Amino acid sequence: MTDWQGKHVTVAGLGVSGVPAAEVLHARGAIVTVVNDGDDARAREQAAGLEALGVTVRLGDGATLPEGTELIVTAPGWKPDKPLFQAARAAGIEIWGDVELAWRLRGPESAPWLAVTGTNGKTTTVQMLTSILKAAGLRTAAVGNIGVSLLDAVLGDEEYDVLAVELSSYQLHWAPSLRAHSAAVLNLAPDHLDWHGSMEAYAKDKGRIYEGNRVACVYNVADKLTEELVREADVEEGCRAVGFTLGTPGPSQLGVVDGILVDRAFVENRHKNAQELAEVSDVHPPAPHNIANALAAAALARAFGVPPTAVRDGLRNFRPDAHRIAHVADVDGVAYIDDSKATNTHAAEASLASYESIVWIAGGLAKGATFDELVAKSAERLRGVVLIGADRALIREALARHAPEVPVVDLDRTDTGAMLAAVQEARRLAVEGDTVLLAPACASMDMFANYNKRGDAFAQAVRGLGA
Ligand code: ADP
Repeated sequence: MTDWQGKHVTVAGLGVSGVPAAEVLHARGAIVTVVNDGDDARAREQAAGLEALGVTVRLGDGATLPEGTELIVTAPGWKPDKPLFQAARAAGIEIWGDVELAWRLRGPESAPWLAVTGTNGKTTTVQMLTSILKAAGLRTAAVGNIGVSLLDAVLGDEEYDVLAVELSSYQLHWAPSLRAHSAAVLNLAPDHLDWHGSMEAYAKDKGRIYEGNRVACVYNVADKLTEELVREADVEEGCRAVGFTLGTPGPSQLGVVDGILVDRAFVENRHKNAQELAEVSDVHPPAPHNIANALAAAALARAFGVPPTAVRDGLRNFRPDAHRIAHVADVDGVAYIDDSKATNTHAAEASLASYESIVWIAGGLAKGATFDELVAKSAERLRGVVLIGADRALIREALARHAPEVPVVDLDRTDTGAMLAAVQEARRLAVEGDTVLLAPACASMDMFANYNKRGDAFAQAVRGLGA
């Protein structure tokens, strides 16, 4: 659909993707109707802006399919089983997400996409990749679920040589024709299953990122499911499967040998079978899961032809975003680490695997998760646990089953001030050399506006200890 003049397009959902989508389509001559479930003050403000352009907006009615709709462009978070979509499917109307729209408008003509998805580590990996690409002198940006929007990246005035694209499982679900230069699935653990319906459906949506790849499909050797997704993908001729591993790499893999990140997939010198890229200590922080992220970023950069020195420089220049294994302070020989972004059990598991003797602060909204596996795997590292938040009983019960000897302080609180009490309790449990780790394995919204605020409360409480 290249001629938009007079096309009836329904945009489902205002917000960060819906408003620009409606604007862009309206500017191309489409007859745009935006439907939105809510009608709060923010929605009304956005609606007013669009209505001033001549776009129709229906607030508080996201269920009814506007008459004459020829295409739906949806916000990625809208669930596929919504009545609006059921009606659209019954009528044979196509549904695109924000990524699909960007791709169809100008994707193939834009700079090549190096795409990243996975349950955890997407943002970090895309930022590492951007840092590496910049170190190679390339014009690039982190786009998608992060930073610059995809529409801006493909339609804006800024010129790019290559784009580092973060894609969520929702975005991939709604992006059937996307074709990346190369893509990586970092890991797959149960998450957002209420949205996708099942683990199979979730994995299938993530696997979409490999479809049509031209140069490399990057997978996690330790996560067999990611390799399976590569095998199932329909890719361009000559596209290679490239693995990354924290162990010694096999052929066509990147891995770690004696503290050095090495590449055995893209070796320029015919007389060598491995190319050294960087030292483990060049990765910040050098926690195992983060080294995995660095290897995935390096694999995508190497697939794009970036030289080893730029991989090293890019990793050295990179610093993680706030609340991702951030070292807040050392107090009395105890390190205090803020990993508030560990909002699910898979992320918390990676966090807990990064330290030896831990006082763990956990709890919040469980989002349907179970904690047995996480607790069983981490039990031997735990000096003690402090629990806060609405669903803390689920973690307490898992601890009773798998780590009965570990002391647990159940604060039985969900007020914002609970974080201060939690940090004070953690200090009491910790001994010199320990790490107090905020890795809640839960969402924050029972106590805080978001994970940033939760991490800030932790950092503030820790700073109070040192005073
Ligand atoms: P995403 O964008 O996928 O949410 P982030 O890079 O923001 O990922 O990291 C989110 C959290 O996931 C971090 O706080 C960290 O605890 C954890 N994490 C990061 N990388 C990995 C990984 N490769 N495997 C497991 N957990 C990870």
